[in-house]
Amino acid sequence: MSFDTKTLWMTLAISNLVFGLLMLVYAGAEGGRATLRGWASAQLLKGLAIVLIIIKPMFSHPWGFTGNVLYLVGHFVELAAFLAYAGLGDRIKGAALMSVALTLGYLVGIGIGAAGGAMAVIFSSSLFVLYGLSALALAASGRRRSPVQVLLVVSNGLIALTALARAGLAWSSEAWDPQSAALTNQAMFLLGYVFSLCDGFAFLLLVKEDADRSLLRMATTDELTGIANRAHFLDLAEDRRRLCLRSGQPITVMMMDLDHFKQVNDVFGHAVGDEVLRRVGAVLRDHLRDVDVYGRLGGEEFAVVLPGTSPEAALPVAERLRAALAETVVATDSGQARITVSLGLADLAGDRRLEQAMSEADQHLYRAKAQGRNRVVAATETISDRAGASLRPAL
Ligand code: GH3
Ligand code: MG
Ligand code: MG
Repeated sequence: MSFDTKTLWMTLAISNLVFGLLMLVYAGAEGGRATLRGWASAQLLKGLAIVLIIIKPMFSHPWGFTGNVLYLVGHFVELAAFLAYAGLGDRIKGAALMSVALTLGYLVGIGIGAAGGAMAVIFSSSLFVLYGLSALALAASGRRRSPVQVLLVVSNGLIALTALARAGLAWSSEAWDPQSAALTNQAMFLLGYVFSLCDGFAFLLLVKEDADRSLLRMATTDELTGIANRAHFLDLAEDRRRLCLRSGQPITVMMMDLDHFKQVNDVFGHAVGDEVLRRVGAVLRDHLRDVDVYGRLGGEEFAVVLPGTSPEAALPVAERLRAALAETVVATDSGQARITVSLGLADLAGDRRLEQAMSEADQHLYRAKAQGRNRVVAATETISDRAGASLRPAL
């Protein structure tokens, strides 16, 4: 059995061109997609290069090699896109120097009229280096590993090895010509074709995976503090409530509101106010357990759900948060910004609904405000105020 490699590569060229063009239109419509635009341009360059390589016999020497040179350039653009994607943008200069050196090596080969076999060795070794670097760039990426990313590393590594095998074949035998019917040669081109297709789809999927992740982050995270937003907090809280209901565990909800926060904005400015809110997020992150859920409900209001914790056991937790926040200082040009918070607790165990418990905790919170702020109020008692840990009955 033998393949018509010319047809195979023409198909690859067409898919590269169509793919590249579609992606360029897609990436162009949205800002901040420079990596995708770079990658799409590389597909166009490589598609065009393959067409030129196929119709090589129509050009006289040395113009017949234009396609190969364009392919090397196209691959450099793809490598640059991979590096940018992997957060290794500072390596692009080095990759550019390497690509220029490889292209110059190829041009010198043309210049000195090297034989076809030798040119095939130079070209295939250059592809080995470039695809190998692509695989390394993606493997070294600081991003979270995903199966698609592993697939892309493997497919680039395999294209690199295929190119190396072709260089070896061209070095050791006459069967290097793309048109040659030698089975090894045909199998290699077929492999290269499959991996190239795989490469294209895998990168698209990788970019989609990233877009999905950032959409999910945007939908669930409060942009300012980085903790859960209202909707996500409510989802998580409801989850924990059901879990505790099923297992008969205690659970407590805590509402928290910054005291006189308007004054912080008025005295120090909105930017300092924002920094204070970020600090509150950090205190919640640092002081609560992994199983606890917390979020910013909006403005300067936060909420916490403590699964496995009764309101009595939650009091010292709330007190620790209150004390930690009272000690928080944001240094500014016009002095130190300090804040305090008021907290209200309510039982979320049994068949109580989340909204019901949150509304009760809110009522306790407003009692804490009425009693002078900087304190925690639960159903039957008030603990702690700015003077210390006095225990008083609620109003
Ligand atoms: P109280 O002790 O009674 O809660 O007083 P307060 O000043 O904290 O309450 P009020 O509800 O009057 O003010 C809340 C302030 O929070 C008003 C608003 O400008 C500010 N705020 C809400 N969201 C943000 C934000 O994202 N950033 C900043 N810097 N301020 C915000
Ligand atoms: Mg408020
Ligand atoms: Mg407030």
